[in-house]
Amino acid sequence: MDNLVHDLHEHFSSEINCLECANCCRSLGPAIYDKDIERISKALRLKPSEVVDKYLKIDEDGDYVFRSMPCPFLMPDNYCSIYEFRPKACREYPHTDRKKFSQIYMLTVKNSSTCPIAYHVLKELTK
Ligand code: SF4
Ligand code: SF4
Repeated sequence: MDNLVHDLHEHFSSEINCLECANCCRSLGPAIYDKDIERISKALRLKPSEVVDKYLKIDEDGDYVFRSMPCPFLMPDNYCSIYEFRPKACREYPHTDRKKFSQIYMLTVKNSSTCPIAYHVLKELTK
């Protein structure tokens, strides 16, 4: 299944312009890990503790997430102001190029209500 899903991912990622969407940056709170905090702190020239205090909170699963959404780094033109330093979860979303796709099938069903790439990949897959 992975080969098929990855082909669909490539196709729809090139068809859909994330800069015209940004739904994930508006509505989903990516989990943010220590390495992400280190990268963001370098981008902002802040201490990691200052990044935590200013931008992050702990969610019900015990993960750091952004204090508020839309993401504080989303700019009015939908660009990410820390793009090169963005969290790993942002880089990997919507995960449709991941190996062992069957393991994240239900996550992709959930993501399909936010992300048009995930929606179209699933729609084609179910055909
Ligand atoms: S850090 Fe950048 S890519 Fe991640 S949610 Fe915020 S604006 Fe989007
Ligand atoms: S929700 Fe999907 S299509 Fe929209 S910006 Fe995010 S990754 Fe791109």
